[in-house]
Amino acid sequence: MKFNTKLIHGGISEDSSTGAVSIPIYRSSTFHQNKVAGNAKWEYGRSGNPTRAALEKLIADLEEGKAGFAFASGSAAIHAVFSLFSSGDHIVVGDDVYGGTFRLIDQVLKRFGLEFTVVDTRDLSAVENAIQKNTRAIYLETPTNPLLRITDIKKIAEISKHYQLHTIVDNTFATPYNQNPLVLGADIVVHSATKYLAGHSDLVAGLAVTNDPEVADKLAFLQNSIGSVLGPDDSWLLQRGIKTLAARMEIHHKNTQLIYDYFSRNDKVARIYYPGDPASQGYEIAKRQMCGFGGIISFELEKGLDPKKFVESLRIIDLAESLGGVESLIEIPALMTHASIPRDIRLKNGIKDELIRLSVGLEDGQDLLDDLKQSFSKI
Ligand SMILES: *Cc1c(COP(=O)(O)O)cnc(C)c1O
Repeated sequence: MKFNTKLIHGGISEDSSTGAVSIPIYRSSTFHQNKVAGNAKWEYGRSGNPTRAALEKLIADLEEGKAGFAFASGSAAIHAVFSLFSSGDHIVVGDDVYGGTFRLIDQVLKRFGLEFTVVDTRDLSAVENAIQKNTRAIYLETPTNPLLRITDIKKIAEISKHYQLHTIVDNTFATPYNQNPLVLGADIVVHSATKYLAGHSDLVAGLAVTNDPEVADKLAFLQNSIGSVLGPDDSWLLQRGIKTLAARMEIHHKNTQLIYDYFSRNDKVARIYYPGDPASQGYEIAKRQMCGFGGIISFELEKGLDPKKFVESLRIIDLAESLGGVESLIEIPALMTHASIPRDIRLKNGIKDELIRLSVGLEDGQDLLDDLKQSFSKI
């Protein structure tokens, strides 16, 4: 089955007991058992639910993994994955990971004795130099948020294999439509399914997938033990969203390319961050490991132009956090999504005060260009 067909017919796409072509929402916390301790397939809603199981099988198929797990949020999925490790274990983490992931590491997991070294994962020798005797994993995002930096997953996975580490990739920005980290050698993929997979800005969910049977057993145990599972209603809504991923990504790509072309001709734009920019650091790697460049573009205005006034003057493009929805969303990372990072660290990581991040939606491309043009005329 090819990818676009898998979106519709992958995983468990029909209800075996009724033939319903949309998996029903099994809103039941417990299930009747024929025998005492008889190993029934369904026992209790935290341990397993048929609606959630259909989604979990689907994401495993889409990421070419053996087992998938659905969580109450991307952060919950990431927490469960980090729970594979124990006090005294060390993990190498990308320096441009999602702010909430950094907060989880820095303010929660460190208190439980997990050790971390933060490095620019684009720099393979920096990654290798950060590996210690107690290192267990390399954790990264590509493309990153908001600078769309690209790391070579295959090369990182080679380093991991050499030192017998796990490679963990947050694939939220690329989606399995554009990139399959497990095929490139990673061991675990995590998603904030809140973004492109759900696609409609109407739910919060997380997913994890692995192709390692031992990791799969441990994740199943952790998912049930920690208990931050996705409920049946949101599992259904997420599976419904995933069915249209290919159709949506094609328009995300088309509109983003259109806006990139417009920005590259616009003398009020000082700098563009987009993996599809042939002059960008990661272009060749992105072309190799991704099927498309995604729907996010970041940019800086020329000196003296007010980014706040620019984003507040837009009429169609929504001033809001989050990304990956049908509606175009724009924000200023320094003042919004990344405001919790101290300014000096933020600047060191390359996130300037005037940086703007745009998640390009599915509106008519010309309407988006016209909206940007009228906003540029105000500054
Ligand atoms: C949003 C996001 C997360 C966190 O996911 P939630 O669903 O908000 O908990 C993790 N990683 C990336 C790249 C994200 O964009």
